[in-house]
Amino acid sequence: MNVKAQVGRLRQRLLSSVYRRPAALGSRGPIVSFTFDDFPRTALTIGGAILKDHSVRGTYYAAMGLMNVSNHQGDHFRREDLEALLRDGHELGSHTFSHISCRSVSTTSFREEVAKGRRAVEELTGRSDVGNFAFPFGEVTLQAKKAVGLDVASSRGIWSGVNGPDIDLNLLRANSLYGGDDRRVEVQELILENERRKGWLIFYSHDVRPNPSRFGCTPELLKFAVSFASRQNSRILTMADVVGLVVPVDKLVFRGQDRDQEAEMASGRRHSACQEPR
Ligand SMILES: [Zn+2]
Repeated sequence: MNVKAQVGRLRQRLLSSVYRRPAALGSRGPIVSFTFDDFPRTALTIGGAILKDHSVRGTYYAAMGLMNVSNHQGDHFRREDLEALLRDGHELGSHTFSHISCRSVSTTSFREEVAKGRRAVEELTGRSDVGNFAFPFGEVTLQAKKAVGLDVASSRGIWSGVNGPDIDLNLLRANSLYGGDDRRVEVQELILENERRKGWLIFYSHDVRPNPSRFGCTPELLKFAVSFASRQNSRILTMADVVGLVVPVDKLVFRGQDRDQEAEMASGRRHSACQEPR
């Protein structure tokens, strides 16, 4: 292993071991979640339709600054896509507003970007952001992990592996679902490993189309992953579903709310700015 890879591995180990927000998966696995970042329209129009055909739902980590933007991943979501996404029961997560890396700005600026992204979700949809967040580019720093962890219900990175039995809600592991049929065996092995470990396997992708970008996958690969996971008796759940399972509502602390609001929310529904007591 070269020096750069060794440093990367040490960095990953350090970041995985500090500022954790642990939660126990218990016997709830095996669970598989399908997530899409940024997000290109095809993740919903094609990817969302595949999930719906299997009667399951996904999580879309949208960077609102990418709305109406076209790039190598194709056209990104439009406003009407957000409505369609929620109508179909998918989850809308956040991904900063401008899709910036926490390594490119100060921690204060990054935290503001996360808040701006979440506000934009609320303004555009009229619904509270449920508080599930993914780090753009999967880049994480110690300070960003700590700071964002104070504000959101969960943060997802892009380091591969299975979550569980103890999970870190401040830096969830996720595995790329990129490419086409040549990735089937790898996807199959991950799903089987997750089943053996009764863990929580999170996939992430971007565009879903016959000729995807190198950050996307073909409809066939997604179909294969969803149907294989279903056949293996894995539960396919959104990020919000799983966070809701591992963090009991009565253990949530709501920030910036008065006591009456806290009691009302704890008794009935989840809120955006929630987190476990430390
Ligand atoms: Zn992204």
